[in-house]
Amino acid sequence: MNNKNSYHFHTKVIHAGQSPGDWDGATQPPIFQTASHQHETAENLSRTFSGKTNDHIYMRLTNPTNRILEEKLVALEGGQGAVVMSSGMAAITNACMALLRAEDEFVTGNSLFMSTYLLFTNIFKKYNITARLVESTDADAIEKAINSRTRFVYIETIGNPKMDIPDLARIAGIAHSHGIPLLVDNTLPTPYLCRPFELGADVVIHSTTKYLSGHGNAVGGAVIDSGGFDWSGERFPDFKPFIDRKGALAFLDKVWREHHINFGTTQAPIHSYLTMIGLDTLALRMERHMENAQEVARFLDKRQEVTWINYPGLKDHPSHSIARKQFGDKGFGGMLAFGLKDQTACFEFIQGLKLIYHLANLGDCKTLVIHPYSSQYVSFDDPTRESLSITADMIRLSVGIEDVGDICEDLGQALDKIK
Ligand SMILES: *Cc1c(COP(=O)(O)O)cnc(C)c1O
Repeated sequence: MNNKNSYHFHTKVIHAGQSPGDWDGATQPPIFQTASHQHETAENLSRTFSGKTNDHIYMRLTNPTNRILEEKLVALEGGQGAVVMSSGMAAITNACMALLRAEDEFVTGNSLFMSTYLLFTNIFKKYNITARLVESTDADAIEKAINSRTRFVYIETIGNPKMDIPDLARIAGIAHSHGIPLLVDNTLPTPYLCRPFELGADVVIHSTTKYLSGHGNAVGGAVIDSGGFDWSGERFPDFKPFIDRKGALAFLDKVWREHHINFGTTQAPIHSYLTMIGLDTLALRMERHMENAQEVARFLDKRQEVTWINYPGLKDHPSHSIARKQFGDKGFGGMLAFGLKDQTACFEFIQGLKLIYHLANLGDCKTLVIHPYSSQYVSFDDPTRESLSITADMIRLSVGIEDVGDICEDLGQALDKIK
């Protein structure tokens, strides 16, 4: 094996976790479509069940194809271990459940993916677990919300569709000063744009469904462990057996052993395979997504039908400077939101599109549009929608990698049709 970690991102994203001689020289990983694995001896199976070998037992536990994707994600994020799961929500649920007991609390930015919001505010509530929601970019409010019951801080690197960007290094510092870890949902920027471990985060979560896969053909999620958090602190007495077993990777072991394998949030190897095909082109796609998004923002800015634009790449955006600090000169992500006169105008606009797809997804190589207020958030009451910045006049755009002239032309002709 070459030392893959010394390569640059553009190389690593293609070559991490594999070498030319692997799999009879195949360039793409094989799909191990098998529910279970043979063991030569009873001793070996016993050792494997005790966690003393990395052999495979049963697909719900581990799978060789999934493991290749796990190695790739660890290399890209710079962590020490990963578990891939059946969806981004499976990853978020398992990561949080591994940390939470009844009556516990955690602090979270209020700029949350819709299902994450419902998990935190509705489902956890049933177990008397309190999610303290504060403004994602308000580090002081995050610190104030931490108390003796708080088990972790949770944040999204780029809020969706708020497009607010928290200062991860500052928030990690605050969390650590209270002896708790920082969990980051890094789905929107991907490790191409931001590597939260380098800024002090302890756990990174992904929906691989989005940019990592990029083709809208697979669903998946991942929990990645930096291996750097000390779980022996007084807040985490329940981590002792996991520390004894896996040391630095105690958290990942708890996620995997206690939750993932028992909840059955198994990733099908075909989804890992499809995700890895997409992953090969992640760096190139992200460059084009961001270049196009910047251009689309400029285009929309000039249109009189557009009442406001929310894109961190615009100089007057409240998160512009922190984005520059955190993401360097690479860009500002591929997502933006903008306003039209009202909901009717939004519907007319969507109806008028010819090239752009209207559907609930993001991070696809195709440009996608949605009116979140009347779709994903249709069952939310207005005060909640307002707190999440979901307004009736808002269009969300996931800018794809097509020719940007064609994207703008489609947007323009649909804006022309608004009455
Ligand atoms: C889509 C998404 C999720 C959930 O991922 P699924 O794969 O759909 O379960 C979580 N977080 C963010 C930021 C997302 O965009």
